Amino acid sequence: MRRYLVAGNWKMNTTRETGVALAKAVAEGSTSANGKIDVLICPPFPYLIPVSDAVRGSHVQVGAQNACAEAPGAFTGEVAMDMLLDLGCPWVVLGHSERRHVFGESDETINRKVLAALEKGLQPILCVGELLEERQENQTEQVLDRQMAGGLAGVSTEQMSRVVIAYEPVWAIGTGLTASPEQANSAHAHLRKWLESHYNPEVANALRILYGGSVKANNAASLLAQPHVDGALVGGASLKAGDFLPIIEAGVQATK
Ligand code: PEP
Repeated sequence: MRRYLVAGNWKMNTTRETGVALAKAVAEGSTSANGKIDVLICPPFPYLIPVSDAVRGSHVQVGAQNACAEAPGAFTGEVAMDMLLDLGCPWVVLGHSERRHVFGESDETINRKVLAALEKGLQPILCVGELLEERQENQTEQVLDRQMAGGLAGVSTEQMSRVVIAYEPVWAIGTGLTASPEQANSAHAHLRKWLESHYNPEVANALRILYGGSVKANNAASLLAQPHVDGALVGGASLKAGDFLPIIEAGVQATK
């Protein structure tokens, strides 16, 4: 049985004050999730410490939205995996579509980050997903295969127990267009098949695959009800407790 994970990606939003208030509201408003599902919030780097302090002792976990593959050193403007570890920040989102398509990160760059995160004992959430043109040209599965093979190159079977995959069709991120529950389930099933053939059935059965792309309170339950959907990576709707809490609750309900 895979445990649901509902994660909020705040992107480059909030102030320290609004971020801390949001984190507290999420922790206080989602106690029904405690012991049932995993809840994660990913604030911008400068707020990792105050947000971690705000949720300390609660069931809410904190993650980063990105990090550098290199060891600490002369990499101006970057944040090392060791620094996340030092903060007690166990999760890191890697290969988000904005990192791929706005900042030009390649599968190779993302792979180096995934390997570095795993080497440090962190838990990477590797994002994959096709562009609209690729879906329209029936290229979705090939794109997912390429991103999985590229992003996970060299990751051992043992390390896969710490990996989470997020399927985020690029055309659904921040657009208000959501993959239908059937589209999401079919992509997730494909990813699980990939995991089975490139690792083994145990890895494929145990690994959590989140859906991301305009998840909202009104569509979360139907997406989370799909057999291969093990949680959600939520952008816009994670920025207000009133929007995010019902999505967490949908995860709690889907667990029953
Ligand atoms: C995201 O940023 O990962 C995301 C899925 O954004 P949104 O929920 O706003 O589409």
